[in-house]
Amino acid sequence: MTLERFRLDGKVALITGGNRGIGLAIAKLFLEAGSFCMLSGRSQTDGLGALLAAYPDRAAWFQADVNDEAAPEGMVAATVQRFGRLDILVNNAGIADNGDFHDFDDARLKRIMDTNLIAPFRIARAAIKPMLAQGSGSIVNIGSISGYVANKPQLQVAYNASKAAVHQMSAVMAYEYAGRGIRVNALAPGYVVSDMTAGGIANPEWNRIWTENTPMGRFAQPEEMATCALFLASDAASYVTGAVLVADGGYTTH
Ligand code: NDP
Repeated sequence: MTLERFRLDGKVALITGGNRGIGLAIAKLFLEAGSFCMLSGRSQTDGLGALLAAYPDRAAWFQADVNDEAAPEGMVAATVQRFGRLDILVNNAGIADNGDFHDFDDARLKRIMDTNLIAPFRIARAAIKPMLAQGSGSIVNIGSISGYVANKPQLQVAYNASKAAVHQMSAVMAYEYAGRGIRVNALAPGYVVSDMTAGGIANPEWNRIWTENTPMGRFAQPEEMATCALFLASDAASYVTGAVLVADGGYTTH
């Protein structure tokens, strides 16, 4: 059945930032689709607790700051140890920081780049080793429309640069591993309701600008990103690699 290619039965996924927001929605859907999931993040949340309780045999938690030296190898090793293999990596953990370019100091720049680019690079590097040994794997890196456009009204050049780099990293990784059974894609969300955007959505002026610039006239729910991630992660996307799937309600059409 072709439709079954959208399912993840028996596949093992590692999802960073799987404790809330988009990552938690991805985790919920992947579990619903039959996968085993190692969820990573810094802090336990109610949503995470509910998921771990609902899927005691298929969901597990690995507490880590992605910027810790040992975190990438640690989370991959824990996944393989617990579930026996690693089929899917979703590099989702990320942060934003707004401010004028001329005031954006080194510490803030480093924090953004470390979390949004260096950590996903290191985690993918760790994850690709068991995938190479298996001869199969799928990596989904969460980029952003910020990798394409200047955001408005908020200024966030470091964030934009980090997400553009995530898109390019995905494309080049895809090229490098296409012949070895490993697909690498990026997902570029538009504005999604989450803790990251809560402040902007609550700000009437920002809310108006974000909404007016989104042709669909609304923000996305995290679940609408999870379905995109499921497609890219699953065998339904067996001929898709090096792509950036833009899911933005039309934001980048104009
Ligand atoms: P949230 O702020 O809700 O979630 C961010 C996630 O990243 C949390 O799970 C958080 O875990 C994790 N995280 C952040 N820093 C670290 C760290 N140092 N170590 C481990 N985990 C960390 O945001 P979203 O769910 O909205 O964002 C998820 C991804 O989607 C990000 O990469 C973001 O850039 C991207 N994105 C979001 C958009 C949006 O409109 N919301 C639009 C485009 C892209 P913890 O709770 O432990 O800190």
